[in-house]
Amino acid sequence: MTSASVRPRPAAIPEIKAGRRTALRPGWALLPERVDGLARRATAGGAPSVSTHAPATGARLVDLPQSGERDLDTAFERARAAQCEWAKRPVKERAAVFARLHDLILREQSEILDVIQTETGKARSHAFEEVADVAINARYYSRAAADLLKPKGRPGALPLLTTASEVRHPKGVVVVVSPWNYPLALSVSDALPALIAGNAVVSRPDNQTALTTLWAHELAEEAGLPKDVWQVVLGRGKDIGAALIARADFVDYTGSTATGRGIATQAAQRLIGCSLELGGKNPMIVLDDADVAKAADGAIRACFSSAGQLCESMERLYVHADVYGEFVERFVGNVAALRLGADLDFDSDMGSLTFERQLELVSAHVEDARAKGATVLAGGRARPDLGPYFYEPTVLTGVTPEMDLYREETFGPVVALYRVSSEDEAIAQANDTRYGLNASVWTCDTKRGRRVAERLRAGAVNINEGYAAAWGSVAAPSGGVGDSGLGRRHGAEGILKYTDVQTIATQRLLPIAPLPGMSEQTWARTMTVALWAMRRLGVK
Ligand code: NAD
Repeated sequence: MTSASVRPRPAAIPEIKAGRRTALRPGWALLPERVDGLARRATAGGAPSVSTHAPATGARLVDLPQSGERDLDTAFERARAAQCEWAKRPVKERAAVFARLHDLILREQSEILDVIQTETGKARSHAFEEVADVAINARYYSRAAADLLKPKGRPGALPLLTTASEVRHPKGVVVVVSPWNYPLALSVSDALPALIAGNAVVSRPDNQTALTTLWAHELAEEAGLPKDVWQVVLGRGKDIGAALIARADFVDYTGSTATGRGIATQAAQRLIGCSLELGGKNPMIVLDDADVAKAADGAIRACFSSAGQLCESMERLYVHADVYGEFVERFVGNVAALRLGADLDFDSDMGSLTFERQLELVSAHVEDARAKGATVLAGGRARPDLGPYFYEPTVLTGVTPEMDLYREETFGPVVALYRVSSEDEAIAQANDTRYGLNASVWTCDTKRGRRVAERLRAGAVNINEGYAAAWGSVAAPSGGVGDSGLGRRHGAEGILKYTDVQTIATQRLLPIAPLPGMSEQTWARTMTVALWAMRRLGVK
């Protein structure tokens, strides 16, 4: 660990309050027998196990079995066999499993909140966002899937004579590779539309947060998901990533842009589809007519949820000069009031980082910026007095292009503040990035907010909210442009990507060819007249 000591701070930087030192007294969900029972649900055991630790305390959590080649073969064989039967069930029957999952997850939430917090080190309110995410997706897809997946009639080649329809078939076995930062949301909410579409799923959660996925796997069986339709395998990306893609019919990946590129390359070689949800360097714009108090409050949620280890998190704040002074005062005051801790209750506002490497990256970005002349307005140091990977929520000004955090994703509780003199300048600066995942605009004039939003190059723009408005609107697609990814989750795209589309067309009465005895020339003339008529009549 790099920043092991708590550095004394200059008088101008406000003190960030410590919560209690996190103890993580686990409930029964994390007793050793329970943990071992969850670990046994994985198709794994053919490779040496890996130990995981609770980030907030450093305490050992579990020795996780790992999947070897044979385990992968077994998982895919079982998944393929189960998928054939699963796909034969009506969509409504498949969807009903997830309507029950919705109810169960809300009912059993205290247990999974303990597991998520223990594995990630995040605050309980941020763990709850994951429970809500799964419930929202389960509700939406269990209601909407039948309509989205049903065959759709399409205009035929020749009106009345040709009918056409679009039919959806499941891809087969979908691989879902999910990261550690939102382990419940990103493993379950991406798997559930694939399953409702009639696929089997092989999930590869990150080792650090595998218990969360395995807990959901158990709950899905309780909700009625047939055994073997959802397989969980375990292993580091570098160990089993390629072997998974080699066996998959479609790959859904969430993680860094660098890894996503490698996965896209392998998927392309196999000519299978992939959906990639990657990194971001998200901008938030506070316009001159914004409600500054609300914006300063919203910026806390936008920047520090899960200690900033959220792909949708804001790392750049562009504030109009007219409201800059007031915004800075309120925002820095809000940051200083945050309570750090990861106890299994709702008394902390921000938890720990999840890995030593995240702490190293965050510390390196802040130290680089400080060394090159940036000013720390709040935070700016590790808090080993609270737990091994705690880092204070940090606000910087004076960040310039030579500094690493100007363009690079920090993926931590660090945000740079920039003063801008116009709407156009804010938009130009916000768009000056290779990423394009999420953006946020604060204004009292929502029509103006929409105009600004349409000029931002980002897969989602939230007006008067950081990320939850767009993310939670699951009937609309979510995903990135540029280096932030390919494909979408949520909405129609979020389930149709797991299907192959087939066109079935029927020709009636007359062929699409000359009638008996008709010359090719007469046929061409007849068709020309018909094509002109179709255009005049507005046939699509
Ligand atoms: P990472 O790419 O190193 O790892 C992410 C996950 O991918 C890990 O679980 C890892 O085991 C796995 N992985 C690594 N190599 C693999 C391979 N060759 N094949 C298959 N899987 C492999 O990223 P990280 O640093 O651990 O995670 C943080 C990054 O993820 C950030 O850039 C963040 O923005 C991004 N992320 C994006 C979203 C989103 O929805 N857009 C959500 C969460 C995280």
